[in-house]
Amino acid sequence: ASRRASAVAARALDAVAAMLDEQAEELGRIDRIAGDGDHGIGMQRGSRAASAAASRAVAAGAGARTALQHAGDAWADKGGGTSGAIWGEMLLDLGAALGDDDAVDAALLSAGVGRMKDAVMSFGKATVGDKTMIDAIVPFADTLRDRLAQGDDLLDAWATAADAAQAAAEATAQLTARLGRARTHGDRSLGTPDPGAVSFALVTRTVLDVLKE
Ligand code: ADP
Ligand code: MG
Ligand code: MG
Repeated sequence: ASRRASAVAARALDAVAAMLDEQAEELGRIDRIAGDGDHGIGMQRGSRAASAAASRAVAAGAGARTALQHAGDAWADKGGGTSGAIWGEMLLDLGAALGDDDAVDAALLSAGVGRMKDAVMSFGKATVGDKTMIDAIVPFADTLRDRLAQGDDLLDAWATAADAAQAAAEATAQLTARLGRARTHGDRSLGTPDPGAVSFALVTRTVLDVLKE
């Protein structure tokens, strides 16, 4: 609580960019099976630009809302594709919920994650079961909210939510895509998880490690 929320956000984006450098090849491989193969490179470029933008904003004294706004704009601009637009939107919504005064607690963070979830669902018109990142975002946001309501502290609640996101991402392998590019590839995606759901789950795991620092 002694750390500024904007500084934690910048540190988290830096860790996410480093993680995605390592995972880019595998995410591209998954996207190649039923999509166009650019999910790894898109996430890598987007997160790197977002991390740089957030660091610059924090160095200039920005609060979480402003830092995440710059980061979201940079991710959408440099990441490209559907996932770039969605991640850009998610960071804007998270920032809008956190605000600029940097007094962020678990309840506010969970509300921000819920707002992120709502934004993605109205933005992309996908619902649970369409084999998109929504399949990981919904269990993540709902588990975080529910565990906090049960009295878990933030780190325990986030860890349980990240586990739920990972399990849900893996379970998308059983689904056939109905939206986006994957749709035109029919059930070629059967047996392979949705790349956006996999990367979302990986991001939640990386952010947990930063929250623990
Ligand atoms: P593109 O599909 O434009 O090449 P990416 O490959 O980077 O972009 O991202 C693909 C991911 O975007 C999918 O795996 C899926 O998780 C996500 N996605 C696609 N369409 C939607 C949608 N309508 N709502 C939410 N997520 C979506
Ligand atoms: Mg793609
Ligand atoms: Mg593409």
